[in-house]
Amino acid sequence: MYSKNTILLVDDEEIGKRRLRDVISDEFGVLDASDGQEALEILAANVDKVAVIVLDLIMPVMDGFQFMAEFRRHQEYDNIPVIVATANEDWHSEQKCLEAGVWDFVMKPYNPMLLRFRIRNAIDKSRMIMVERDAVTGLYTKFKFYREVRMLLLENTERTFALVRFDIDRFKMINNFYGIKEGDRVLQSVAAELRRISTVFDRFVYGRMENDVFVVCMPFREENIDLLVNALQINLRKVNKDYNIKVSCGVYVINDDTLDVTEMYDRAYLAAKSCKGRFVQSIAYYNESMIEDMRQEQFIINEVNRAIEEEQFEVYLQPKINLATDCSYGAEALVRWRHPDRGMISPGEFIPVYERNGIIGRLDQYMWRHVCKLLRRWLDEGRQPNPISVNVSRVNIYNPQLVKIFKKLITEYQIPAELLNLELTESAFMEDQDLIMKTMSNLHKLGFKIMMDDFGSGYSSLNVLKDMEVDYLKVDMKFLQDQEANGKGEKVLTSVIRMAKWLRLPSIVEGVETIEQVDFLKCIGCEYAQGYYYAKPMTVAEYEDFIAREASMGTKCRADENIAIINELWNTRSNTSRLFDMLEIPIAVYEYRNEKLELLRTNSRYESEIIFDKNVSESEHNRRIQSERSMLREAFAKIVRGDFCGPMEYELTGGIWYRVTVKVIGRRADTMIMMVTFCEISEYR
Ligand code: C2E
Ligand code: CA
Ligand code: CA
Repeated sequence: MYSKNTILLVDDEEIGKRRLRDVISDEFGVLDASDGQEALEILAANVDKVAVIVLDLIMPVMDGFQFMAEFRRHQEYDNIPVIVATANEDWHSEQKCLEAGVWDFVMKPYNPMLLRFRIRNAIDKSRMIMVERDAVTGLYTKFKFYREVRMLLLENTERTFALVRFDIDRFKMINNFYGIKEGDRVLQSVAAELRRISTVFDRFVYGRMENDVFVVCMPFREENIDLLVNALQINLRKVNKDYNIKVSCGVYVINDDTLDVTEMYDRAYLAAKSCKGRFVQSIAYYNESMIEDMRQEQFIINEVNRAIEEEQFEVYLQPKINLATDCSYGAEALVRWRHPDRGMISPGEFIPVYERNGIIGRLDQYMWRHVCKLLRRWLDEGRQPNPISVNVSRVNIYNPQLVKIFKKLITEYQIPAELLNLELTESAFMEDQDLIMKTMSNLHKLGFKIMMDDFGSGYSSLNVLKDMEVDYLKVDMKFLQDQEANGKGEKVLTSVIRMAKWLRLPSIVEGVETIEQVDFLKCIGCEYAQGYYYAKPMTVAEYEDFIAREASMGTKCRADENIAIINELWNTRSNTSRLFDMLEIPIAVYEYRNEKLELLRTNSRYESEIIFDKNVSESEHNRRIQSERSMLREAFAKIVRGDFCGPMEYELTGGIWYRVTVKVIGRRADTMIMMVTFCEISEYR
């Protein structure tokens, strides 16, 4: 039911007004005002009700012309028809009225039948316009805009036009933070600016498509489009400096006017999408490759079901390297798509598409299952696999079934949870922190280890890291790539790794491509690396070969979680090194290779208590060295053979006994690094 059916009569002649009211009040509600000023007040309070205004021109206080001038300043009155009552045929006033936006005229004294007819007419017409005009801004709606553009193109076949589509970046944010009213205010100011600009060009059709999306069709010249966008930008900044809003603008230069206007719009939209998220460029022009991209995207979406059914997606593995040993410690599973007709399709092409569409959730789960299957096979074959990590995309992180899904998988395949590590991308941590913390805690209870992936790629906040119970930090490759440019990446990387250490988080740096980068990472105490320098992502068969080759190189590449501190020990100014010196127990670090021992480092306590005691003679000193070495040689040999080597009791000199413990803290090819600690036990013997 159409609710606007009240007529506002604005006339200072009471008798005429009463007569009129008698005639129309059976069909319409009636409000009346005696001058323009009063009419504006009534209108403001009843804007939702008033369907038509019948306006006398000559009135005290504020006459009809003044009223119209004021009335026109309110966009929200755009759809309310005004019928002017004139006493005689005055062409001059009539023309003035039309210019002022008056719709129709009636002669005074009123002819009731005629007036009723004209009011109905005006209401019908305004209803039509309501559909053609957007309620918030008064601009053309989508359908009206399309129709007007069609007309414009038909009437001006000799000219080239452009269809411009723009929207306001982060408009949702304004709506959410400042409220719908404020959002409307922004939209209205855009509309007002468009109205202003429209007067500059001779052919300029514009409208609002939906939400924050506006469209313009104007004669094409690149500088005109720059002008338009600049003007809009400046105007938006004036609305509120704090929002820092920007428009993203897509342009289709209409060089094929046989296209539907909707298709022209689609092309402008495709172009606009390509400039979203960029900071500098806010205008993008449509080109043919965009439609190709869209087709490709459609293809990728259409094919996914078949690809999953036919298992076209494959698990590739990229080893992670323990930097203390240079041996691999597990791998990351990365998806590869082997399409029967198109060959290999890179994840860069399909992952973003699936992320946008939420399909990635299914693909993730496909990968998890295949990795579980693989781990099961390895376990059945009696191998001792290291953990494989899988990627968990945002949709799954917030999937309420996530914990259940993982639990079901490891139960079904009988896999220890430690063998499946989960990589959660950093950006997901910024959204619903309570929820993600709860999920992580449940995953931890099941025994899963969690890595924060792509750290540093987005809005990393160290604060978040402190609150999140992640087990590993995976540092984005961008820092390594920045390194060459200005050295800043290097500094940032150093502090990130150091901070991770404070939080007791081992870190993995991705994208390691050169030996220089490896050296640098070792130097700053990074624990793990992943990258082309060591190995590219490979098929499962290749990975099995890779592991076999590593094993046959003589060393058993089992990483010890604590090893990386060794790197810090060499750096005498590092915290670990200082700590090492301050420890109240004697410690020595040896290198062991081909049955040869070399003392690498000792702490002060070791020096004063065990070897370099100033009160002993040189011969006693040498004896102590010999006896310690023979004890250690035996212990080290045992360890290299893989035998168990528990704590040993060792008499330093008459009646002074120590319990000596040996721990492997690093392996590299045929070299082992051993940490030897001494604990005095004389009084317990
Ligand atoms: P990511 O998780 O950060 O994976 C690391 C990416 O870096 C991989 O790209 C890997 O091939 C590449 N990479 C490894 N070492 C180097 C190097 O030294 N230099 C350079 N330039 N790149 C290196 P890929 O396989 O193309 O995957 C790209 C992204 O796609 C991944 O980034 C991940 O976000 C996503 N992705 C891949 N597989 C899966 C999956 O199974 N599930 C989900 N959800 N996402 C996946
Ligand atoms: Ca990853
Ligand atoms: Ca990553």
